[in-house]
Amino acid sequence: MADLYIDGEWTGAAAGGRRDVVNPFDASVVRTVDDADGTDVDRAVRAARRAFDDGEWAGAPTRRRADVLHRVYELLLRDREDVARIETQDTGKTIAESRLDVEDIANAFRYFAEIADKDGGRVVDVGPDVLSRVVYQPVGVCALIAPWNYPLLQATWKVAPALAAGNTFVLKPSETTPLTTIYLFRLLEEAGTPPGVANLVLGPGSTVGSAMTQHPDVDLVSFTGGLATGRTIMAGAAADVKNIALELGGKNPNVIFEDADFDAAVDYALDAAFLHSGQVCSAGSRLLVQEGLHDRFVEALADRARRIRLGNGMHEDTESGPLSSPEHREKVEGYLEVAAAEGARLVCGGRRPDDPELSRGFFVLPTVYADCDRSMRIVQEEVFGPVVTVERFRDEEDAVRLANDTKYGLAGAVWTSDASRAQRVAQRLRHGTVWINDFHPYVPQAEWGGFGHSGVGRELGPTGLREYQEAKHIYQNLRPAPSGWFKG
Ligand code: NAD
Repeated sequence: MADLYIDGEWTGAAAGGRRDVVNPFDASVVRTVDDADGTDVDRAVRAARRAFDDGEWAGAPTRRRADVLHRVYELLLRDREDVARIETQDTGKTIAESRLDVEDIANAFRYFAEIADKDGGRVVDVGPDVLSRVVYQPVGVCALIAPWNYPLLQATWKVAPALAAGNTFVLKPSETTPLTTIYLFRLLEEAGTPPGVANLVLGPGSTVGSAMTQHPDVDLVSFTGGLATGRTIMAGAAADVKNIALELGGKNPNVIFEDADFDAAVDYALDAAFLHSGQVCSAGSRLLVQEGLHDRFVEALADRARRIRLGNGMHEDTESGPLSSPEHREKVEGYLEVAAAEGARLVCGGRRPDDPELSRGFFVLPTVYADCDRSMRIVQEEVFGPVVTVERFRDEEDAVRLANDTKYGLAGAVWTSDASRAQRVAQRLRHGTVWINDFHPYVPQAEWGGFGHSGVGRELGPTGLREYQEAKHIYQNLRPAPSGWFKG
């Protein structure tokens, strides 16, 4: 069966392109899929334009769109185990994590179904002779581009609000992890999304992605991925003054005060750094530990990190999978060399595992570096692998200064048993999400996104819907009469 979905039809690529999708656990080919080019993108954008302009979807009662989203939620719950297994084969992440992802994905569809018709705009009080209303309308045709670490989750944070708001779209998943997104389109079709509203193209960013972002019929580009690509997209959007939403990288501080609950802080520091082998935009890859606690904390963390069970994500007892691709492992290993050259002290990991069972997969051992400081590249740049750096801090002021000493600003955490200090520090951190005595939870009701180089705009929450809407002011004079401004 063909893998591109354009104008309500499953179709192959115009030029016949195909691409292997590889399981990062053992480098086996999971499936071969169609690989598009600019011609397919043009066809998909035109279909989305036509579907938007004919007004059937954009002008439908909001409840109808919400019903489609609600059906997708139910279908995802029906197929949750199939979707989770495909996500694990595609990304290498553990099946337990994929199951949680699918639950979160379904819940995001439900959330946007629930809020779709809850905000009819607002009335502005101008006086008795005027009816002034601000209404929110769909932006138009959206180009949605997703990364490989949370393939279906990141796509959903765009697809669900785009549909709820009445837009049409063309979506491109990462070329390395397209399988669950293809599955989602089968569910969108089954749920009754009209032809042309949701279109799927597959292929590389350099050709398919850039054709999407540069297409003159696209009104909004929403992108999740790396900083360098985000910059290219932002610059490209200038020509047509397209709306943009960017969810980019992070180098996220995890701040541990001496009065923190030690066992919980160590345990969560492990989750923060090594969940999904650190391939998480909000990974707590920069640990800041107060000096009196530092040595004990590093020792406990490394002891736990050495015991993380690496393996096949499909096995229930695996705790962490491989990196997503050989190219990505090379990038991570490049950073291991950088850290060594910069004088970071290797406490554990720092190489590939010896286990012959893992030799075909793209593994790197969970790695802890101590004696790090803010001038190091390993501290400032996003590694996106199972690598955590540790720095010491003296007091609250020092902790805040270090935690904000990053060009990024996606997420951070503070661990302390002093409730007022927790709130003070959380207020001062220049990051889009701050956890107190926790790490990683997010909910669809609350905004997600970053300060600084971590991006532009927010996903999830009411703001996540607004990204896909234009505000329009409708002003009606209820007692028209000559103004008398010009006297002649
Ligand atoms: P990437 O930038 O290489 O690719 C992301 C997507 O963009 C892929 O679909 C890719 O094909 C496409 N792309 C690449 N070049 C393009 C171009 N010139 N024009 C248009 N599209 C192009 O990123 P990645 O390696 O897939 O993902 C990892 C990055 O994503 C990390 O930096 C991570 O922090 C970030 N990320 C951020 C969030 C967030 O919520 N802020 C979430 C997940 C991942």
